[in-house]
Amino acid sequence: MAEHQYCVLNIEDDEDIARVVRTLLERAGYRVVSTGDGREGLRRFHDERPDLVILDVGLPTLDGWTIIERLRDLSSAPILVLTARDSESDKVRGLRSGADDYLTKPFGNAELLARVEALLRREGRRARNGGGPRHEDDPADPPAGRRVAEHGVEVDFDLHVVKVGGRPVELTPTEFRLLETLMSHRGQVLSPEQLLRLAWRDPTATGPDRVKFTVLRLRRKLGWESGPDTPIETLRGFGYRYRPPTG
Ligand code: CA
Repeated sequence: MAEHQYCVLNIEDDEDIARVVRTLLERAGYRVVSTGDGREGLRRFHDERPDLVILDVGLPTLDGWTIIERLRDLSSAPILVLTARDSESDKVRGLRSGADDYLTKPFGNAELLARVEALLRREGRRARNGGGPRHEDDPADPPAGRRVAEHGVEVDFDLHVVKVGGRPVELTPTEFRLLETLMSHRGQVLSPEQLLRLAWRDPTATGPDRVKFTVLRLRRKLGWESGPDTPIETLRGFGYRYRPPTG
């Protein structure tokens, strides 16, 4: 049986970046449709019904923000936004307006592929079946198996055992649930409000400082000190993301 070939629409007016994206994704088995023009991008979306959109922000005739709004009116296909380096406000604006993830230019090839795969794994079935609307609190895939060993930390989610360098580490139930929530939404940005609902099970979702300080404690206990390489990444003004190890 032939596997479904995913179609990716890349709306990008920088020809070098567009070429890199096309080569990379085609080599990985995707069908790629690309255009450097905003309006044309919307037309291609209607014609091709892609499974995922990779979107630049600054585009001729129609900017990325407007495209996100238009797409969200008619589709829940995942949108990955490419933003300029260090443009924190672009990231936040993109995620708030309905993009599913972002990547900062310049990006690594492996990173782009990993994001695309994660988004399609998450959304694929619904996107292809044209299923119902997504909800931000939809359950994510659990980590592979119920035991993982990543970034020097072993976690057994059934036994609630966490080891660092082979030695057990005591986590509070909240710290454990926070770790589990972040790891099971690997690669996704979760806002403090989402984390309060998912890990604290607090429907009011107030008090982002609770999240901030629990993240700090968790990082310290796991030896995941903050800094650019910490597995629990802080996206100032938006939230937190667990970075799976790059292989
Ligand atoms: Ca551009």
